[in-house]
Amino acid sequence: MEEWSLRTESPEETMKLASALAGLVQKGDVITLEGDLGAGKTSFTKGFAQGLGVKRVVNSPTFTIIKEYKGRIPLYHMDVYRMEDEDEELGLEEYFYGEGVSVVEWPSMIASQLPEDRLVISLFHVGETNREIKMHSTGLRSTELLKELRYE
Ligand code: ADP
Ligand code: MG
Repeated sequence: MEEWSLRTESPEETMKLASALAGLVQKGDVITLEGDLGAGKTSFTKGFAQGLGVKRVVNSPTFTIIKEYKGRIPLYHMDVYRMEDEDEELGLEEYFYGEGVSVVEWPSMIASQLPEDRLVISLFHVGETNREIKMHSTGLRSTELLKELRYE
């Protein structure tokens, strides 16, 4: 498995990293984003969406758990923060194993429903505009993806 940790010094830098990742993903890839409120999960997703060529503005889904955006491949943005029951049947497999890439904020809320192979990203506050971004892979595909991002 692969691990990589780096610091960004602005939201733009975080978005740029996310955009670079978006250039490498393929259908069926799953990326999870962990971190406190305000750590930058949604900012990361916005940069990711830009890198995928999504034209619409990406916001955290407020009333829905999943939002789908058109890009080079579809982007499935899930924010499961408001979910109450982890085992609630959401039919998420349809997305995880679908035609697009899934980005999941608050993955711990749906831990039992996540595919095994995913790129796990955690964001930590370091300072006002500094964040530590830790990434690790959990399977073959996510390892390949993280290596490409790191060494490209
Ligand atoms: P979350 O989805 O984790 O709650 P958001 O992305 O909504 O977080 O908010 C992160 C906030 O922190 C934004 O206002 C963003 O501009 C700010 N910010 C400051 N520095 C950074 C950084 N280096 N990376 C990402 N966001 C940052
Ligand atoms: Mg958010």
